[in-house]
Amino acid sequence: MNLVSFSIKTKGLRNFLRRLWTVFSRFGFSETRARRSLTAIVEALQSYQAAPTFYIPAVVLRRHPVLMQTMVRNNVEISIHGYFHNDYRSLHEKEQYLQTRQAITIFDDVHIPWQGFRNPYLGWTEELLPILNRLGFAYESNETVHHDVVDLSQIPLPLQEGYQKSLALYRALPANTSTLLPHFEGALLRIPLSIPDDEMLVDRLRMTRPNQVGGAWSDVMQRVYDLEGIYTLNLHPERGVLCRQALSMLLAFAHSLPLPVWFARLEEVARWWKERRAFRLDIQEQAHGCWHIVATCTARATLLARYLDAGQTATQPWTDSHVRVLAQDFLVRAPTCPCIAVSARTPCEVVDFLGEMGYPTRLIPEGEAGHYAYYLDMPEGLGTSRAEQAQKCGQLLEQIKQSNTPLVYFGPWPDGHYAALSITGDIDSVTIQDFFLRILEVSRTGIKLFERGLTGQQNPNLAQ
Ligand SMILES: [Zn+2]
Repeated sequence: MNLVSFSIKTKGLRNFLRRLWTVFSRFGFSETRARRSLTAIVEALQSYQAAPTFYIPAVVLRRHPVLMQTMVRNNVEISIHGYFHNDYRSLHEKEQYLQTRQAITIFDDVHIPWQGFRNPYLGWTEELLPILNRLGFAYESNETVHHDVVDLSQIPLPLQEGYQKSLALYRALPANTSTLLPHFEGALLRIPLSIPDDEMLVDRLRMTRPNQVGGAWSDVMQRVYDLEGIYTLNLHPERGVLCRQALSMLLAFAHSLPLPVWFARLEEVARWWKERRAFRLDIQEQAHGCWHIVATCTARATLLARYLDAGQTATQPWTDSHVRVLAQDFLVRAPTCPCIAVSARTPCEVVDFLGEMGYPTRLIPEGEAGHYAYYLDMPEGLGTSRAEQAQKCGQLLEQIKQSNTPLVYFGPWPDGHYAALSITGDIDSVTIQDFFLRILEVSRTGIKLFERGLTGQQNPNLAQ
């Protein structure tokens, strides 16, 4: 069966024609329209001295190296979006490795520096993570977190189904304090991506008014801010002009929040988490109820203290219960040691997780818990499945946050920022020719698996 008849069969003729119409309205035969769309996003961020991260498949980059080099000169980060635009879930491990390595070769050939990876269709696999580690990627941005910001009951049923299909395709996790923060897998940082994205709102739910889309994204920003996480938005540049106002609305909203939000490219986020990974807090009792704290960290650290008397230490206001400490060697007064005590039977993974989240921990023998601000006994660990880990990690962080006990710890973001926002976008095609070449390229590599119904989806190249 060829791709067009396959797509018509699975997607329906109307939707197939609709997608074709959008392709001809958003792309041109030259680079002009794509440049305009990319520029719309770049300019929106320039007003805030920030820049986006774009992902591009290597074969598309090879056809448009000058346009991408121009982007890099404008402070834009360009990263790798596969070799072809295909779903890695349909590839064996060796093929995933070979295609990723081939993609790197093309990026190197056209002198585009790369740091990160995002899969087409966010189709990451467990086998891919060691491959990305081995090939030297600093980060990947595939893990999806869903925010329930759209009232689906107001949306016609067939459109709701399309939205639900995207959720299933992306294997989204629920938003919580843990899922909205990056975490390391070896040397590779995994940076979460928040949905709904532009494709889900504009194409799936047919939201046409800028304030509907911008409103939904601002709601996501508020929720991410409340949880002190990172909001990574995926705004495909093909909708850059269409979503320009919605993007401006989101940026203005993020900028207006009470504590500053860090507008950063994902490579900056990865660099920061690597820097932050080496931070340590040493806490010793100097006198009864008086604690000497030495922070081993860079000047960019956001060091926070709560429910204690910081005395003469230089601080600045943070939230109602917290202050930001501006010293690295200081004294505080608190009735108990302002760190997290962990029982001997709690597995190392819990201690490592808390360390990564910025909390000082101390393994203690039974019976000493009363000397510490927070005592954790979690012999069952963090669980095994991805969903279970996300839930347990989220619950643990939430319990610590709500415990109202003295604590000194590192906030997640640098230089006194409270949350982070990263505008990213997948450049799946630059021209109409790219769009149709993409179908041919994928048909040569992985389409047979779609036809076998591997993921139960239509051919995604025509669906998105
Ligand atoms: Zn893509």
